[in-house]
Amino acid sequence: MSGDIISLYRARLAKEKGFVKKDWGGRLSVALAYPNYYRLGMSNLGFQIVYHLLNQRSDVVAERVFLPEGQEMSLHLGAGKPLLSLESQASLQRFDIVAFSLSFENDYPNILKILELAKIPLLSEQRSAPCPFVMAGGVTTFLNPEPLARFLDFFLLGEAEANINEFVDAFLEFAALRDDKKEFIKNLAGNVPGLYVPSLYRPEYHQDGTLKSFFPKDDQVPEKIKPACSTDEFIDGNTPLSTITTPDTEFGDKVLVELGRGCGRSCRFCAAGYVYRPPRMHRESDIIASIDSALERCDQVGLLAASVSDIPGIENITSLIVKRGHSFSVSSLRADSITQGLLDHMKQAGQRTLTIAPEAGSERLRRLTNKHLTRDRITETVTLISETSDFSIKLYFLIGLPTETKNDVAEIVDLVKVIRHNMVKASAARGRIGQIRLSVNCFIPKPFTPFQWFPLEQLSSLKEKQKWLKKSLVKEGGIKVNTDLPKWAYVQALLSMGDRRVGAILLSAHESGGDWTKALRFSKINPDFFVYRPKGLNEVLPWDFIDHGITKKHLINEYKLALKAKESDVCHVGECYRCGVCSETAES
Ligand code: SF4
Repeated sequence: MSGDIISLYRARLAKEKGFVKKDWGGRLSVALAYPNYYRLGMSNLGFQIVYHLLNQRSDVVAERVFLPEGQEMSLHLGAGKPLLSLESQASLQRFDIVAFSLSFENDYPNILKILELAKIPLLSEQRSAPCPFVMAGGVTTFLNPEPLARFLDFFLLGEAEANINEFVDAFLEFAALRDDKKEFIKNLAGNVPGLYVPSLYRPEYHQDGTLKSFFPKDDQVPEKIKPACSTDEFIDGNTPLSTITTPDTEFGDKVLVELGRGCGRSCRFCAAGYVYRPPRMHRESDIIASIDSALERCDQVGLLAASVSDIPGIENITSLIVKRGHSFSVSSLRADSITQGLLDHMKQAGQRTLTIAPEAGSERLRRLTNKHLTRDRITETVTLISETSDFSIKLYFLIGLPTETKNDVAEIVDLVKVIRHNMVKASAARGRIGQIRLSVNCFIPKPFTPFQWFPLEQLSSLKEKQKWLKKSLVKEGGIKVNTDLPKWAYVQALLSMGDRRVGAILLSAHESGGDWTKALRFSKINPDFFVYRPKGLNEVLPWDFIDHGITKKHLINEYKLALKAKESDVCHVGECYRCGVCSETAES
């Protein structure tokens, strides 16, 4: 039976271009695990970047691992053998390190599934040599790694370009100490920027369950962990792109190219806009060089940025792609920076759907979120889009935003109707008209944002709002409404805002075969404490030991402005020192 899995993995590799297969002899072996299915992991540029960075080194062999899906899972379970890597079909137990790349909190249960399938003990304290070290990196780890504290031996916080080489160097330097796990990881923690070892820190709690303090147990490790930031690598002209292509991904056989990292718009709900500060854009010439090399390998590129239309020189870039007879897709656009030129190029590239994110229906809530987007601007842009072509428009909205009322939700319906009306009017001469697809998601408060102190809205209220929205729009032609499941919003909020005690709930959900209802109901600690409780501004938060350079004072100012529905300025890198990231001396 295990032969069948091997055939399946070999067939998968045969469809790929760009994977790396190395001889293991004398090299540090890393199983780079994506805690979800292959098609999702291979669509994740961050995962591909880490694979490339590791395999660029002659002293490392990195192979990929994914959560098996469908037939693959049946084959795996039928074989009863430990989970295998893709490239050489080696058992995960044979690797020096199993490294998880994490982008979404709701993937955390899959970490435990992968460890179990690999027959690796789930808890860090249960693992010792010759068991591989189990580590994690990725954006959710530098928001709040604490719910995973019991399972991972250590975390590498920050952007991999800026600390992965130092990590590998230190791992190899201290290799002689490996059998003494505690001593070994303590040396890593003292020498690698952004390396966080949960077992070396002690949390203490107040009677009411809030965090009292969080300190290192050992003076060799830092009190605050500073995630690595790759500012220098950006200046060096390095524009990351995916190195492996395969038709079996969400994006198809495309090379993904990063145009920028972070976003200077300062939306108050957006964690990426805060923890990837300062916002950085790649130089036009560097992007073009990366696209040139991508188009030697494929016909299409996927352009990735928080907002592609904000990238300086974007029209030149997209014009170049279409003039050469190739096509592109874009991740998302800002309604106030879309231009006629960009729309023309998207039409020529055959893009059928454009995504814009008003986030809220009312002007008040858009000001509260610091969206800097008016209703007039949104409708003008929709008119421009529909005059250009019969693009479908995907609209992102959040419900459950702080202070949201029924009227604010009703304004989503009004805005969508106005957008539809403008689309119909602008398309009248052409006769063909695109659809509107609404994606309505529950607002989940995230660490390091000005909204980190707010709770999740009660599920009953979120469900009622979803139902009402669907009912109000169902009779409108050309509009489809998709909503997320509030139950998973609750789990995501728990895993985003919980401390290390939440690990017990995660373990219990895993042990009960993914039955979260049971795990939440029988938990010793009340999960609502993390999800529904508004936090005090002076409270010690589980993620306060991470230092992104953003002052708490700045976040509190933004929180207070939000409550007054007042906007604040966007980033002006080089001229602004408000939040503390761009200067050692933040504005007081
Ligand atoms: S200091 Fe100003 S420009 Fe720099 S990241 Fe903060 S808000 Fe943006």
